[in-house]
Amino acid sequence: MTLPHLYLHPPGDFLPDLAPHVAPKGICVTTFDDLPLIDPLKQAVAALGYEKPTPIQARAIPPLLDGRDVLGCARTGTGKTAAFALPVLQHLDGGRRPGRARARALVLTPTRELAIQVEESFRDYAKHLRLSCAVVFGGVGKQRQIDAMNRGVDVLVATPGRLLDLMGDGYINLDRVEFFVLDEADRMLDMGFIHDVRKVIAKLPSERRTLLFSATMPGEIRELSQTLLTDPVMVAVDPVSSTAERVDQCVMFVEKGDKRHLLADLLQLDGEIDRALVFTRTKHGANRLAKQLERITTAAAIHGNKSQNARQRALEGFKSGTVRVLVATDIAARGIDVDEISHVINFDLPNEPESYVHRIGRTARAGAAGTAILFCQPDERSELRRIERLIDIGIPVVDGHAYEPEMVPESQQVPAKKGRGGRGGRGGRSGGGRRGGGGRNQQGGGNKAGGGGGRRRRRGGRNRS
Ligand code: AMP
Repeated sequence: MTLPHLYLHPPGDFLPDLAPHVAPKGICVTTFDDLPLIDPLKQAVAALGYEKPTPIQARAIPPLLDGRDVLGCARTGTGKTAAFALPVLQHLDGGRRPGRARARALVLTPTRELAIQVEESFRDYAKHLRLSCAVVFGGVGKQRQIDAMNRGVDVLVATPGRLLDLMGDGYINLDRVEFFVLDEADRMLDMGFIHDVRKVIAKLPSERRTLLFSATMPGEIRELSQTLLTDPVMVAVDPVSSTAERVDQCVMFVEKGDKRHLLADLLQLDGEIDRALVFTRTKHGANRLAKQLERITTAAAIHGNKSQNARQRALEGFKSGTVRVLVATDIAARGIDVDEISHVINFDLPNEPESYVHRIGRTARAGAAGTAILFCQPDERSELRRIERLIDIGIPVVDGHAYEPEMVPESQQVPAKKGRGGRGGRGGRSGGGRRGGGGRNQQGGGNKAGGGGGRRRRRGGRNRS
């Protein structure tokens, strides 16, 4: 079925080199009934409580049902999994059975958690169809994955390393793949998997449909998309530089050594922090912080050095509410699909400004509201400005909190490394006691973020560029 009138324009500046392939602007899709999906799929999404398609679904599903390749610029949390899973399942429905060790659709994801989630979503959407799904990823035994592939599957979701491993041993053969989905392509690049991805691509049949999703479009992904996709339709929603609108953001300046005390205060004083995802820069830092937090609340850490079982346990606890605070590194957080994260706390600044957007996108998912708090050391102001430039917003500062440092003008600042002038930065604290927080205003001042009585100061409004 051809529904070219349903395709919508991506933002004007999106991939101008490929712009001639963008289909004309047209009417909006507002309900799942506007989409030519088969009933079993509509029933499945209705059972999941989806009332209307998200923008990426409204834009990507029609061209995918038409058999087009799609280049999607969308991040996790936009509903992009259903955007590719529903049309792929519709195409696979009623087709021939997969051969031994074969898959008819292959979805590559950068992380294990995401692979697990994507496969779960495929299973949910395929509930009323006679299609099989399997997932393969590293860090766990191979035998179950080998057994699952033995008779072949309709949909295989995989991380690149284990996939290549099982292909090398002859347990998986990609020569019958009809649909190839490369999910979170920019993350593949960030995590150094792009080489493995290319090896997988080399084993795919040339006659296939390809879907590439990425939150950002760095040069290498653009190049890859040009070689990988045939006459693609581009769909873009919520580009990475437009921070999720519903996220209430603020920054709290604090010295490094005071961060954990400030966080403890927030967790103890701010009754609105139901479920917080806290980001640290290192795995070790995540472990240490989770241990410290366990003294005052329920907390767990999730990162790449944890076993698959430990990660799953932490995630399940976080989802069910028995763990209030999940401390994560950026990479581990990619696969966390929890809708009701009330707060994202950037305990450490991210290495890349774009990670900030990914991080805060973990809250305010599925239309909910959310708060993102950024801890910033006085010597990290230039990094803060890079983030603000990216999101084009001046993030309001919470001042007057208990651990507010003395802000030395940047021109007089000692470089961030060692010998930063000791701990003089704490001179601005209103109270003496570290732990007890004596002298702090414990009323909370009505400020969600400033549990220690902070006020929020708006800075700068929209940025210059
Ligand atoms: P994703 O971006 O695919 O990771 O999806 C983010 C979350 O949105 C998941 O929890 C999905 O179950 C949910 N979701 C996807 N599509 C819809 C929809 N049309 N309506 C409501 N929730 C949705």
